[in-house]
Amino acid sequence: MSQVTDNPFKNSDTNKRYYTYDYYLRRTFGQKCAKITLDAGFTCPNIDGSRGVGGCIYCSGGSRSAGCNELLPLFTQYTEQIQKIRSKWDVTKFIPYLQAYTNSYTSPDNFKRILNEIREFDGAVMIDIATRADCLEDEKIEILRDVSEKIPVTVELGLQSSNDETAKRINRCHTYDEFTDCFARLRKIAPRVKIAVHIIDGLPEESREDMLKTAVDVRALNPDIIKIHLLHVIKDTPLAKMYEKGIYTPLEKDEYVNIVCDQLELLCPDTVVERVTGDGIKDSLLSPLWSLKKTSVINDIDKELYRRGSYQGKKYNF
Ligand code: SF4
Repeated sequence: MSQVTDNPFKNSDTNKRYYTYDYYLRRTFGQKCAKITLDAGFTCPNIDGSRGVGGCIYCSGGSRSAGCNELLPLFTQYTEQIQKIRSKWDVTKFIPYLQAYTNSYTSPDNFKRILNEIREFDGAVMIDIATRADCLEDEKIEILRDVSEKIPVTVELGLQSSNDETAKRINRCHTYDEFTDCFARLRKIAPRVKIAVHIIDGLPEESREDMLKTAVDVRALNPDIIKIHLLHVIKDTPLAKMYEKGIYTPLEKDEYVNIVCDQLELLCPDTVVERVTGDGIKDSLLSPLWSLKKTSVINDIDKELYRRGSYQGKKYNF
C-alpha cells in the first residue's frame, strides 16, 4: 500500500496526515487558491509605544510584507502579484491577505473602508486579516461581521504561547486572558468569521511541555485554523542579540519535527493546519539555517507521523 492509500487520516486526499490548508481551500472553493499579501501601511501598538516599545523580540520591525510595497495602492499591489503568479501557475481564485504588522490598528472607518475595498477585488473569494488580540474592539468586530455576510473572512490572531511568563520574555505586551477575551468576542459577535491562531515553537526558555500546553490551550478554544511556526532569529532584532550572546539557543531540526508531531496529535482533526513551519528569508535569517530547507522540514514531519503510525488528532480525546 502507498502512503496515500494507507493514510488513516480523514481530512486528506494525499499522504498528509494533517488537515492542510491546501486541502481546505480545494474543498471550500473547488480549486487551489492563491493568497495575495497586501500591505496597507499600518504599524503596531507594540512598536509605536501605545502598548509597548520595540515590538516582540523576534520582530524585524522595519520590514514589510515580502512581495508588496505599502506605498502602492492596494489594488496595484494585488494585480501586480496576480500577474506574477499567473505567469507560472493557472489559478483564478485569490485571497487578499492584509499581512504586515497589525491590520486592525486604525480607525473603525478606515478599517471598514479597506475591508470593503479588498472584498471587491476581481477573483477574491475570501479576505484574510492578521492582527493582535488587543486590537479588535467590538466596533471593529461588528465591521468584520458585516463584511463576512458578503464574503468569507478569516482573522489571524498571534498568540505564540499561552504562557504569560513567555509572553513577558518575548515582549508580546498582552496577556493570555486578553487573547481569550478577544477570541470569545469574535466568535460571539461575528460567528461566520473563521479564526486562525498563530503559535511559535522554540520561544526562549520554553520547554517541550510548555509548547504542548499551548497546543492543548489552543485546542480548547477550537479555532478554525492554526499556523505552527518555528522561531526564526532575524538579524538586527533583540532576539539576535540574545542569540549572539549565547543566551538563546534555537531548536534543532529533529526536536522541532517531534514537537510539531506531538502538537498535531493533540489538535482537533477538523482544525485546518495552515502551516507547520515558517518561511525564513535567507538574507536576514541568522538561525536556525536548517529551516531554509522548508520542504525537507515538511517531509520530515510527514515521515515522522508515518513512522509513528499517527496523524492529527490521534490524542485529541485523551
Ligand atoms: S505584534 Fe507582530 S508586528 Fe507587532 S511587534 Fe509583535 S511581531 Fe511585530
